[in-house]
Amino acid sequence: MMGPKQEAQSALFYEFSIEDHVPGDHLLRSIDRFVDLDGIRQYLAPFYSSTGRPSVDPELMIRMLLIGYSLGIRSERRLCEEVHLNLAYRWFCRLDLADPVPDHSTFSKNRHGRFRDSDLLRHLFETVVARCIEEGLVSGQRLAVDASLIEADTNRQNSSAQRDWAPDTMEATDAPRADQEYLATLDDAAFGAATPVKPKFTSHSDPASQWTAARKGPAYFAYSTNYMIDTDNAVILDVEATRSVRQAEVGAARTMIDRIAKNFNLSPERLIADTAYGSAPMLDWLVNERGIAPHIPVIDKSGRKDGTFERADFTYDATDDAYTCPGGKKLRQFRRTYKIPRSGVDKDGLMRYRARKSDCDTCDLKTKCTPRDPQRKVTRSIYEPSRDVARNIAKTTQYAISCKLRKKVEMLFAHLKRILGLNRLRLRGPNGVRDEFHLAATAQNLRKLAKLIPAPAKPQSA
Ligand code: SF4
Repeated sequence: MMGPKQEAQSALFYEFSIEDHVPGDHLLRSIDRFVDLDGIRQYLAPFYSSTGRPSVDPELMIRMLLIGYSLGIRSERRLCEEVHLNLAYRWFCRLDLADPVPDHSTFSKNRHGRFRDSDLLRHLFETVVARCIEEGLVSGQRLAVDASLIEADTNRQNSSAQRDWAPDTMEATDAPRADQEYLATLDDAAFGAATPVKPKFTSHSDPASQWTAARKGPAYFAYSTNYMIDTDNAVILDVEATRSVRQAEVGAARTMIDRIAKNFNLSPERLIADTAYGSAPMLDWLVNERGIAPHIPVIDKSGRKDGTFERADFTYDATDDAYTCPGGKKLRQFRRTYKIPRSGVDKDGLMRYRARKSDCDTCDLKTKCTPRDPQRKVTRSIYEPSRDVARNIAKTTQYAISCKLRKKVEMLFAHLKRILGLNRLRLRGPNGVRDEFHLAATAQNLRKLAKLIPAPAKPQSA
């Protein structure tokens, strides 16, 4: 039997509770258990004036941002509309049915003001990490680090080639916000000062972004998000925004290790990373300055493709400070004593060991060793002992386990891009990018808490 036609009838009074309409297993309900914003107003108080028009409630703004980044709602305009219409979003934002939702332009303006000045999003991220540690999800022993490219909100058409780009002619006070931030970070190791190499193109709308072809496809402008995770449960312990160049990413790894030790008193046993982090100075810093075992492949360019002897075919004797070649002859740095002792170390931290020309001239192995040069030379880094530590670790079964654990950080990047939709940034400039990466990492940790710590069962009614 066909039911009666449904007609909307306005009632004079409603008895309605949003609480009753949000399902018990809704993601936002699970996340809400771990969102502690009690101290936010107090934290922000010094950044607000005591006079003037009251601002949008900062707690409401944070809750709306958490919805956006947890559920992949990337547009601010759409986020405001969704919070207005969706009961679960209203419940999470502590809004009743009739409460107004901020206009998207007001939302955007507030977001870029005091939140940046107070570094609120960093504070929020660290509060959530502290909660993960409190809940026992982090041991702080086996950390993994990696970086991922996120496309900047700019394109090739709006850019200048290297020869046409003149940052010294930019007027800092007149420039747009992203340009001002670019000028302010020219000496920052994570951005302008990361490398002296100038990029091929510089974007006009977001000059701090990096023109890169690192993905082996067409080049584009990007920033890098750097994650330091605890591999027990893939909790993100720290996040850092940098230019998409290797030097900046390795620098970010050092910054994050020190910051984790300072903020959470964690001293890891090992650091797991890919070859990008296997430079000699980085390995030495880990081994000798921080006492951390590097589970990292060593960057080694001593391999040869022409079939001649590689450096690995020469044996180093530390007591004699000399290499022995396959022909049994010694390769030394110095063969005489100088009045003023020489270090023999070049600007890249390399020392050169040479065989005697007379030895090589009469050697039967010369064509297999140094067919073109009169004598063979072998280089050695001043950080070679630390590189040897990493090489020895790479032969262990623990290293094989670390290689599998490293995938966890890659999976977080895949989740960030595919599920949370952060494959292209919406904000520009180093500060905007930093905000986006902090919010996304906070959302990922909150989702992790919600997944791993089940809600306590409701008591059965009698
Ligand atoms: S060519 Fe020189 S360095 Fe090479 S094996 Fe012979 S003696 Fe040794």
